[in-house]
Amino acid sequence: MRLGIISALAEEQQGLIEALQSPARHFHGMREYTAGKLWEIDAVCVLSRIGKVAAAMTATTLVEKFGVTHIIFTGVAGSGDKNVQVGDMVVAESLIQHDFDASPLFPQFEIPLTGLSSFATDVALTDRLAAAAAPIARVHRGLIASGDQFIGKLTQILALKTALPDVLAVEMEGAAVAQVCFELGIPFAVIRTISDNANDDAAVDFMHFIKTVASRYAFAVIENFCKA
Ligand code: SAH
Repeated sequence: MRLGIISALAEEQQGLIEALQSPARHFHGMREYTAGKLWEIDAVCVLSRIGKVAAAMTATTLVEKFGVTHIIFTGVAGSGDKNVQVGDMVVAESLIQHDFDASPLFPQFEIPLTGLSSFATDVALTDRLAAAAAPIARVHRGLIASGDQFIGKLTQILALKTALPDVLAVEMEGAAVAQVCFELGIPFAVIRTISDNANDDAAVDFMHFIKTVASRYAFAVIENFCKA
């Protein structure tokens, strides 16, 4: 296994790059890829920057240029469900692009020419990631929705839930990585710590959470995952 680890923001991956043994840094396409060993696992860590295009470009580069065979995305997200609280973690079983709409040519949310509106994560990686997270936080498994919007208004999250009632968390990158991995045949998994409730308080809650909790959780999960 050569594992690619992607996060959008520096706070979501703090400590991991420092934990890499014999790190080798490469700059490519406005991103820094650091390769090395993480608890005996061959790994490449990178910050994708924010949004679906940024994440897709990063995932593709990890595979095509850095030869990763598996990808994990770790980051924060807004809650999409009453039972999913700030500080909980959501491990994706599938991901959907909530802002994709080529109707009436294709059904809303369907990615043209794939016949799919959501992409399933790899079962083995997802199980291992959920097990790694279990000692750290309350873990939920299910659907994560991604789009090029910060969901920071109650009206936004209510509209999204009406269209997609099963969504557990909302973020801005996961489903893009999912589509890339589906098309390239790369097993992948996504874990998100809930930083906010995707409502009118989301921006303030997000800023606080990202500074205080995000990196500690991500680091512990990846450590458990690699040691398992
Ligand atoms: N002002 C911030 C912008 C972060 S955007 C900054 O400059 O750093 C929010 C990031 O966290 C995205 O990468 C997204 O994946 C995730 N996220 C957390 N809460 C979210 C929400 N409510 N809606 C959408 N994305 C959210």
